[in-house]
Amino acid sequence: MYDIIVIGAGAAGMTAALYAVRAGMKTIVLEKMGIGGQITLTEAVENYPGFSFISGPDLMDKFEQHIKKFGVEVAYEEVHEVKLGDGSHVVVTDDNEYTTHAVIVATGSNPRKLGVQGEEKFIGRGVSYCAVCDGPFFKNKDVAVIGGGDAAIKESIYLTQIVKKATIIHRRDKLRAEKILQNQAFANPKIEFVWDHVVDRVVGNETFEGITIKNVHTDEIREMKFDGVFVYIGHIPNTKFIDVNKTSNGLIITDDCVKTSQAGIYAAGDCRDTCLRQIATCVGDGALAAYNAGEYVERVKSGYV
Ligand code: NAP
Repeated sequence: MYDIIVIGAGAAGMTAALYAVRAGMKTIVLEKMGIGGQITLTEAVENYPGFSFISGPDLMDKFEQHIKKFGVEVAYEEVHEVKLGDGSHVVVTDDNEYTTHAVIVATGSNPRKLGVQGEEKFIGRGVSYCAVCDGPFFKNKDVAVIGGGDAAIKESIYLTQIVKKATIIHRRDKLRAEKILQNQAFANPKIEFVWDHVVDRVVGNETFEGITIKNVHTDEIREMKFDGVFVYIGHIPNTKFIDVNKTSNGLIITDDCVKTSQAGIYAAGDCRDTCLRQIATCVGDGALAAYNAGEYVERVKSGYV
């Protein structure tokens, strides 16, 4: 029987596990892929206090070293279900069923796809969701970047170190990204913008040739030639395996103490319904989740729950 099971080893999950272990809780982290989560796909982190510049993988390495120093147990297993109980829950993975008093869901999210014709066919052969992973394949080439949020703008700026030109295609005429990123992008001679357009189709027979884009006001469709397209239109949370209250987009709804609709279940980081998703907020969520889960576990053990 565990006190706390943390699902997901990104910034939120690792912070939760660190706080839980240091509070004397018998804790395990279950992670389906590798430690670090989405941040490992980020080339440059400049807004995590204490580090004016660090790569995403390097920062997550530091988190990993830190939790290992305090003896956090990590198992590489995918969670398929959480069977909710009264005072204890069962976490079901490929190989095991773990019983625990409390669960912290820190499973993050996956990139949202465009959902247009040709996208699936050219994933990894022209369509990418990760500039850091695939950018080097497009040295001195022309690429499109879809989206207007922090990720689209930040990764476009990164891509300009490699590509000849990055054309940002956005469905509105204003960016969602933070002002400092917008200013950097507007000042970058290798970045161009196409406003008020969405992707209509990915074009190519054997090889990727480009995309067709649609004007959202006139519905006019035109083809643009590119060597590749990077899609940054948000994320879908990994929360299907647990039955707690969620938004229509699958984000877990919590109170200010990151408690969900079910006793003993907490949510932290990008899978939670929150107004800001940053490493700093994930870390804050992880600490809150572990603290409140720990209090809950103490109450269960004392017979108050
Ligand atoms: P996001 O902020 O949700 O932005 C998604 C962008 O894609 C928006 O501009 C949205 O347009 C557009 N979009 C959504 N669906 C679309 C569709 N079907 N077709 C075309 N465009 C579509 O997502 P994100 O940029 O991945 O960021 C996620 C979170 O991580 C945010 O909280 C962000 O602040 C954070 N983040 C921070 C940094 C940083 O360095 N500070 C870096 C990366 C991410 P609209 O604007 O019209 O809605």
